[in-house]
Amino acid sequence: MKIIVLKFGGTSVGSIQRIKKVSKIIKSYSKKYRVIVLSSAMSGTTNKLINMSKKISENFPDNEYDTLVSAGEQISCSLLAGHLAAIGLNSRSWMAWQIPIITEGKHKYSRIKYINKSKILKFLKSGGIPIIAGFQGVDKYLNITTIGRGGSDSSAIMVAKFFKADRCIIYTDVEGVYTTDPNKLNSVKKIKNISYEEMLEMASLGSKVMQPDSIQDARLNRINIEVKSSFVNKSGTLITKRKNIINNKIITGISSTDNDAKVTLLGVKDRPGIAASIFKPLSQNSINVDMVVQNISADGKQTDLTFTIKSNDLNKTKKIIYKNENIVFKKLIFDKNVSKVSIIGVGMITTPGVTFRMFQALARKNINIQVISTSEIKISVLIKSKNASKAVKCLHKEFKLDK
Ligand code: ADP
Ligand code: ASP
Ligand code: MG
Repeated sequence: MKIIVLKFGGTSVGSIQRIKKVSKIIKSYSKKYRVIVLSSAMSGTTNKLINMSKKISENFPDNEYDTLVSAGEQISCSLLAGHLAAIGLNSRSWMAWQIPIITEGKHKYSRIKYINKSKILKFLKSGGIPIIAGFQGVDKYLNITTIGRGGSDSSAIMVAKFFKADRCIIYTDVEGVYTTDPNKLNSVKKIKNISYEEMLEMASLGSKVMQPDSIQDARLNRINIEVKSSFVNKSGTLITKRKNIINNKIITGISSTDNDAKVTLLGVKDRPGIAASIFKPLSQNSINVDMVVQNISADGKQTDLTFTIKSNDLNKTKKIIYKNENIVFKKLIFDKNVSKVSIIGVGMITTPGVTFRMFQALARKNINIQVISTSEIKISVLIKSKNASKAVKCLHKEFKLDK
């Protein structure tokens, strides 16, 4: 029998009733496939655990963070396996250390490197349905690790890779990937097929339906991902390689963020290496710098430098900049009320005038653009947060995504 990987997100296992519902989905596949299940923690659990760590200390150690937050998956997996056993199926939960799932990299942001298949294969062959904890792993010294928020998606893709699964289905609380967040706009359309490249951009630019790392893993390993709802039995979205897709749209989707902050250093002494001096200590502290603009210095002596970061990194960033003895600047200003709105689509590679249309649509709505960044398949603008939903709505219409 072929192997299928089914991943259930937090809302899908968010209550006892939901656990009973997804058990039926698992049971239905078990007649045709050897099923491997990956589960997230019940919705809200991981956030609760993180908040507890913050109450202990703002500098809660990263290794203890991983031990703490990975506990959420232990609860949901045991409840799910327990219910499957109660309805007569052969099932048990597996924590990452029991398999083991080996990760590499830093605590909180590890990546799965290797999965030992032997115990799970033996269990599958005995007719068992393993319920594997997503999000967690162990490093080579058997310390508990986690692989970043939303990481169960990546766990599922890597399990599909190592077990050479025939299919990998991500069950979530919406029917698939939409042209933009269906919880924020009514006129959204479900996307039938989307390329890894577009999905990666959408996920990295704020569409949290899939974790960005998981799309990278899927693209590298050529794993097709089906995203669908665990609430209603309807066809979802297929994430696959570009060659498999016929697309006549210029723009495939729109993403927006609501947790960015803008930092500006005014009157920075303009000399070679200055940008590196600013960004080196930020990167050493795992602060991800996103958009960057440096004004051309009029007198060749001073310049202004603006960049964006995640807003929960703002306090750390300010401290690092004030402490940095390698830079001289006049003033540091910041703004937490900014959002990045992005249009994404491989269609823009071959269609001229997309940038103009985007800027014109925003201008018509009186939305001021603060920073711009582009790649081959996306254009992002930084705007005031209060204008974000208006921007998404007008761009959705401009590029006829509701049609
Ligand atoms: P899970 O707990 O199943 O992993 P997530 O909350 O991580 O679910 O992801 C699903 C959510 O992603 C949806 O409820 C939706 O609000 C959000 N989302 C954001 N952008 C999109 C999009 N373009 N298409 C579908 N969902 C999106
Ligand atoms: N429970 C983890 C989180 O909330 C992982 C996941 O949901 O995929 O981030
Ligand atoms: Mg998720």
